[in-house]
Amino acid sequence: MYGQQIVSTIMKNIVLFGPPGAGKGTQANVLKDTYQLVHISTGDVFRKNIKNRTPLGTLAQSFMDKGELVPDQVTIDMLSDEVAKNAEGNGFIFDGFPRNTTQADALDEVLAAHDACVDAMIALEVNDEILVKRLLKRGETSGRPDDSSEEIVRNRIQIYYNETAILKSYYQDKNKYHGVSGEGDIEAITKRLKAVIDTL
Ligand code: AMP
Repeated sequence: MYGQQIVSTIMKNIVLFGPPGAGKGTQANVLKDTYQLVHISTGDVFRKNIKNRTPLGTLAQSFMDKGELVPDQVTIDMLSDEVAKNAEGNGFIFDGFPRNTTQADALDEVLAAHDACVDAMIALEVNDEILVKRLLKRGETSGRPDDSSEEIVRNRIQIYYNETAILKSYYQDKNKYHGVSGEGDIEAITKRLKAVIDTL
């Protein structure tokens, strides 16, 4: 009884990080079940809104189709709503958010409002040429317009380096950064991620 109470009050909030095609979505889907966490993929939420033809979807699509980032305030408001909807759970795996320091600061504020914080950023490290191959292969079956051309795929990777990669030092400065290799078998990568999460 006592043990159960402790487990239910510990929240773990993990940012799963890495460039497009690193395998964040695939791994988050496994980890959310293992650790009973809510997986929030901002890209998935935008795609759902596009499918349902909401005003948010229409706005997001104009940026997504070119491989560009959706404006911060729109993305932050959406993320904040998603966190509020699931605030009673064990915590979150954030996938695709934050993508710059404005969003990282916003995430701290959003979580602080629920008496929580980011416990760790875990990054999947993958060579660029492997990323391009993986994304184009996914594009053959996913129907995602942003996976369908090498130009857009490379633009997304470039934006990652220009705007997002800086978050490595942002979380390193807080002693919250953990890098693992995102190359190889899906199961082997999951093992590496679990080894980090189990130390948190
Ligand atoms: P993803 O599914 O994470 O690869 O994201 C697909 C696209 O959704 C990105 O290229 C952006 O256009 C948009 N997007 C997803 N997450 C964010 C975010 N945190 N900030 C801005 N745009 C985002």
